[in-house]
Amino acid sequence: MNSQKKRPLTLGVDLGGTKVETALVSTEGRIISSHRHPTHPKKGAENIVEDIAICVEQCLNKGKEEAQALGIGVAAQVDQTGLVRSSPNLGWKDFPLKEMLEKRLKLPVIVTNDVRAAAIGEWHFGAGKGVDDLVVVFVGTGIGGGVISNGRLLEGCSNTAGELGHTTLLVDGRKCHCPNRGCLEAYASGWAIAERAQEAVHAQPKAGRRMVSLAGSVDDITATVISQAYHDEDPLALQLFMETAHYLSLGLVSIVNAFNPCLLILGGGVIEGLPELLKIVDGEIRMTAMKTAVEKLNVVKAALGKESGIVGAAALAQEMIK
Ligand SMILES: [Zn+2]
Repeated sequence: MNSQKKRPLTLGVDLGGTKVETALVSTEGRIISSHRHPTHPKKGAENIVEDIAICVEQCLNKGKEEAQALGIGVAAQVDQTGLVRSSPNLGWKDFPLKEMLEKRLKLPVIVTNDVRAAAIGEWHFGAGKGVDDLVVVFVGTGIGGGVISNGRLLEGCSNTAGELGHTTLLVDGRKCHCPNRGCLEAYASGWAIAERAQEAVHAQPKAGRRMVSLAGSVDDITATVISQAYHDEDPLALQLFMETAHYLSLGLVSIVNAFNPCLLILGGGVIEGLPELLKIVDGEIRMTAMKTAVEKLNVVKAALGKESGIVGAAALAQEMIK
């Protein structure tokens, strides 16, 4: 009997400030086994490399399989050589993650930004499968994504392309977490929606009673609370929802005009909590963007949820060993 050719499985890793998640993934994006391990950034970078290694070893034991390469998405700015330039979550600056992991795991490693890994996951295995021109925008705590043009992910000169949340909406607008003011992220991200809601409730305490009772206090109002209140048909939450839809549409119109995608995929916690945004945003983009930019456009919800980053990182590792 012929011995079957080994399946070229790869590992996908999602590294955050509190935990690392690892999965062994097939070429079709199927998760064969997975493992999660806590991380302790305060103990230093070498310790996190060890946390990742432990998580990988557990994951491989469970699957009783071998991995050919590893892809890792990190909440950080990462250069083309796998050097983590800066990660506030992990407290890293210029940390050679690729080099350290390759030495520890004896595997080829590719390092990327976590949001970019998630965009690649949606492109290869999720809502963007088979499409060559698409934009993925994740509206979560922040806003980020990825642009795929003519079957190629845009990386940019220093590997930071895809910072779609920092499209300017308003001159001298709300302060963003980047050096600019008035960014899309400063209006429609999870943190900005919460800030806008808290300001609205301070200005109109009576109208904000429902949200305060859900949150416990004005300062504890989050995007999740607004989503709950919106689904309870609270008028102030409805107003905040409509404003958010408008801001999001304005930002996305610029993105659609700039890249002319066939497909715009929207995902992330804010979209998951308020899926009703999708239809309104779709309508507003069609009214406001250039006709030629939207005539073939489809706007859809991301399909993979939290798995997108891990399978996207594994797909990058697949490409590396092809
Ligand atoms: Zn910004």
